[in-house]
Amino acid sequence: MRKIAVTGVKAVRRFAAASPTVAIIGELDAVRVPGHPGARPGTGAAHACGHHAQLGMLYGAAIGLNIPELSGPLAGSVAYFATPAEEFIDVARRLARREAGEIQFLSGKQEMIRLGAFDDIDMAMLVHTSSEEPAGRFIVGGTSNGHLVHNVRFIGRAAHAGGAPHDGINALQAASLAIMAINTQRETFEEKDVTRVHGILTKGGTSVNSVPAEVTYEGRVRGRDIAAVDKVVARVERCFKAGALAIGCDLEITTVPGYLPLRNEPGLDDVFVANARAIAGHGSVISQPYDETRGGSTDMGDLSQLIPAIHPYVTAAKGVAHGDDYQIVDYDLAVIQPARVLAATVIDLLGDGGRLAAEVRQRHRPAMTKAEYVRSQSERHRVVRYKGE
Ligand SMILES: [Zn+2]
Ligand SMILES: [Zn+2]
Repeated sequence: MRKIAVTGVKAVRRFAAASPTVAIIGELDAVRVPGHPGARPGTGAAHACGHHAQLGMLYGAAIGLNIPELSGPLAGSVAYFATPAEEFIDVARRLARREAGEIQFLSGKQEMIRLGAFDDIDMAMLVHTSSEEPAGRFIVGGTSNGHLVHNVRFIGRAAHAGGAPHDGINALQAASLAIMAINTQRETFEEKDVTRVHGILTKGGTSVNSVPAEVTYEGRVRGRDIAAVDKVVARVERCFKAGALAIGCDLEITTVPGYLPLRNEPGLDDVFVANARAIAGHGSVISQPYDETRGGSTDMGDLSQLIPAIHPYVTAAKGVAHGDDYQIVDYDLAVIQPARVLAATVIDLLGDGGRLAAEVRQRHRPAMTKAEYVRSQSERHRVVRYKGE
């Protein structure tokens, strides 16, 4: 299947029955880092998060698993997914696609869940690269932050910036005040929540000689769980209003459902870890507590609320993630080894009549059903308008 959630792809290899089906996922997208040596001219898109290595792993595992000899001994099926738009960027463009009816949820896996692409999947795995030291280790366990996305328009009035600034309503000043107000909240953030609030101005005005009449802000509120996110979201939205009120401009806050925290499934991790040790050596695995969050977010989090899922890392990159020096330095470590581990994990899960896959599935307690997920994420999408007068 192609063009799921615009550019997503799904392929299934059936060994025996349709179930159980184990999915291997690779993410299709990049980040905009124009200073990166591999950045695409024009867009600045660069593999500063290493997602290209995931697609290499996907191909590698598929080559290994697609040999005819595996048809007899394995039960069930394996599914290969290339999922788009995990990096939750260019929000205004995604909102325009939503407006045009092309998508409903704004990330690849979110939308693929909604469309039913994962309905026949029993469990899923994705290995992400990391630049942590030492190289050549698999990091399992841990969690990720949940988040919520803001796309905010401050709407003022244009006027000659030299001749009649008093006739204008300066949307940039309103946005500046809002950002300052957000910064005043930081001392209230609680360490246990691992709160992150960050944003960019995606439009700061139109021409320097005209009072900025429209300014847009794209931001995130992240936290350990959705309660922690929502607590800070309420304060941040007050800050947007404070900026609009001080300047007397109009405000439109679009709240977009971001990602849910990652729930790595210990039973699936165990099968992965056994294969990582067999292939890369006993000392190749680093385990993190399941409640330790790195601060970032992923839409594997959303999928992991519904089915058993794991999102281990492989330390095979150098530099700072999302920075201009993030590079895969060793493709054997970054692609070949994880591909072998993923393929071997599928073989273990589906061998012996699919006994291990059945055990993983049996022990898993989903946090919600797909219908509950779609409903709650749909409800989190809202538009609030406010008049600062
Ligand atoms: Zn990333
Ligand atoms: Zn990434």
